[in-house]
Amino acid sequence: MLKINNIETWYDLIRALHGISFEVKQGDIVALLGSNGAGKSTTLKTIMRLLYDLKEEQPEKGTIEFMGERIDRKNTDEIVRMGISYVPEGREVFPELSVLENIMMGAYTRRDRKKIKDDIDHVFDHFPILKARKDQEAGHLSGGEQQMLAIGRALMSRPKLLMLDEPSLGLSPLLTRDIFTIIRDINQKDGVTILLVEQNVNMALKYANFAFLMENGRIVRAEKPEILREDEDVKEFYLGIAKETSVKGYQRYRRKVRFR
Ligand code: ATP
Repeated sequence: MLKINNIETWYDLIRALHGISFEVKQGDIVALLGSNGAGKSTTLKTIMRLLYDLKEEQPEKGTIEFMGERIDRKNTDEIVRMGISYVPEGREVFPELSVLENIMMGAYTRRDRKKIKDDIDHVFDHFPILKARKDQEAGHLSGGEQQMLAIGRALMSRPKLLMLDEPSLGLSPLLTRDIFTIIRDINQKDGVTILLVEQNVNMALKYANFAFLMENGRIVRAEKPEILREDEDVKEFYLGIAKETSVKGYQRYRRKVRFR
């Protein structure tokens, strides 16, 4: 469904993505994992073409294909119309607009007004709390509710692929589980493919069908979650369940991933 081939993205003189390639298959929940600054958010922004107002065209190299069509030189609106929707890190809801107005903003690429009403109801089915708060200002919602609103808004463009950047950021463990359950529902019941950036590796590996691990702007592992969950290095450095964490151990791990 989505094919990233050798893309390279720069912030001025800093190369954030060093020729990364990966594929997202239709129907999957795919997790993009890695430590701070690995390049996960940059990857999603590159796919959405949110960085092309930088001096250079982004990505500088490589191609991105969605449903068999090149999208790496299209603009963001066209990409949304083709069926990719994106929930940025930090949600970015419009705080002074109501919940309902925020949801409607997600339908900005659409002209089919009658179906928009049905889709709002469908968003409320996923998130009943948003229905109860539909007339409240979005800025007054809790962090978890704002995350729900951001996902609900993203669903309004009827995506085939939904990309989420850190949906669990700042949420309690309980709310994180709720959000992940809803993400799985959206995947299984609505048939929406999911590409998920997450720092909560434990949670992401529970819900994903496939995972890519990024380090320093490169993809260093591409594995099924059950394999990563049992991997001693991943346990130690991403799941924090090692017997002991040592500087030497970390250096050994970095040498290993560099040569993979
Ligand atoms: P995080 O979870 O901390 O957001 P990440 O894996 O999403 O990490 P990115 O935000 O994609 O990482 O950052 C990748 C690299 O690009 C980092 O070295 C970062 O410092 C750099 N970078 C990101 N955004 C910018 C920017 N606007 N200007 C300059 N450098 C940037």
